[in-house]
Amino acid sequence: MNILKPTDANITAAAEIIKNGGIAAFPTETVYGLGADALNPIAVAKIFEAKKRPFFDPLIVHIAELSDMDKITKRPDSKSLKLMERFWPGPLTIILEKNDNLPHIVTSSLPNVAVRMPSNNIALEFIKKSGTTIAAPSANRFGCLSPTSAEHVYSQLGSSVDIIIDGGQCTFGIESTIIKILEDKIYLLRHGAITKEEIEEFIKEPVVLDITSDKTEAPGQLPYHYSPEKQIILIDKITTIEERCGYLFYKKPDFYAPENSSKILSEKGNLREAAANLFSHLHYLDRLDIDIIYAEKIEEKGLGIAIMDRLNKASRKNNK
Ligand code: AMP
Ligand code: MG
Repeated sequence: MNILKPTDANITAAAEIIKNGGIAAFPTETVYGLGADALNPIAVAKIFEAKKRPFFDPLIVHIAELSDMDKITKRPDSKSLKLMERFWPGPLTIILEKNDNLPHIVTSSLPNVAVRMPSNNIALEFIKKSGTTIAAPSANRFGCLSPTSAEHVYSQLGSSVDIIIDGGQCTFGIESTIIKILEDKIYLLRHGAITKEEIEEFIKEPVVLDITSDKTEAPGQLPYHYSPEKQIILIDKITTIEERCGYLFYKKPDFYAPENSSKILSEKGNLREAAANLFSHLHYLDRLDIDIIYAEKIEEKGLGIAIMDRLNKASRKNNK
């Protein structure tokens, strides 16, 4: 397994691996993805195996240009097209009717497929050079913290991946927002890097929340997910520091917190910055020789909703 800089030659090498039915980890603006040729069911099966992801959890298919959609979907409705025009390339995933080319393993036998065009240039080059569409979930072990650096991918998946393209830190650092259009209404299935308000502002109609954890349609939205190994406890405000504990502050605290066991999501409380730092700070704290991670709750507004969704799920693993 190689971690490679994103040179033209290395992206070509990663694309060759995809063409030959292998799996490759690559950077996107959300988190690192673990990709395989979406049209090759055996290659896609390797993703589930490497992640230890249950087959009932469908994958997002990544495209590089709109014409790629013909390979995997039927013709989208006009509202989906409008949203693509506005938010693609970018961190918005849209559920569309799949066509017969796309193997069932990608969608866990659902009639719909989740599609996204990433904005990260390395990802776009990689998809183009692969000459196909790329099925890719996040490049972490199932249920664990999402990777926002090549090193996070390596530490979780190691040699089960054929290649990792190192594109540095992910700019958004949080997963894509997932929506679907049904009878001309927009439903939000997962909070993510694009806020509900951003979509509503553009489309001038309310977006309906459709986030329940027991749905077969979005089985990835399990009650616990994105979890560190350590127990994580959410609290309103961190006021004291104890031995053998790690601390995730939202903003800079007004008292001294030792740097080795404390991380701040955003000194000034900028939600974009907080989202970008969320998983990398949790990875850091999870590796310390401590027993518990305390994380401060964030106001559930705008991107704060997606951040709190990840923190709530992370904390439920050990508190079921
Ligand atoms: P990940 O790529 O690991 O962030 O997970 C992708 C998530 O997208 C899955 O866990 C599902 O919840 C969701 N998803 C993928 N395909 C579909 C689909 N066809 N219908 C509804 N949700 C989907
Ligand atoms: Mg994931």
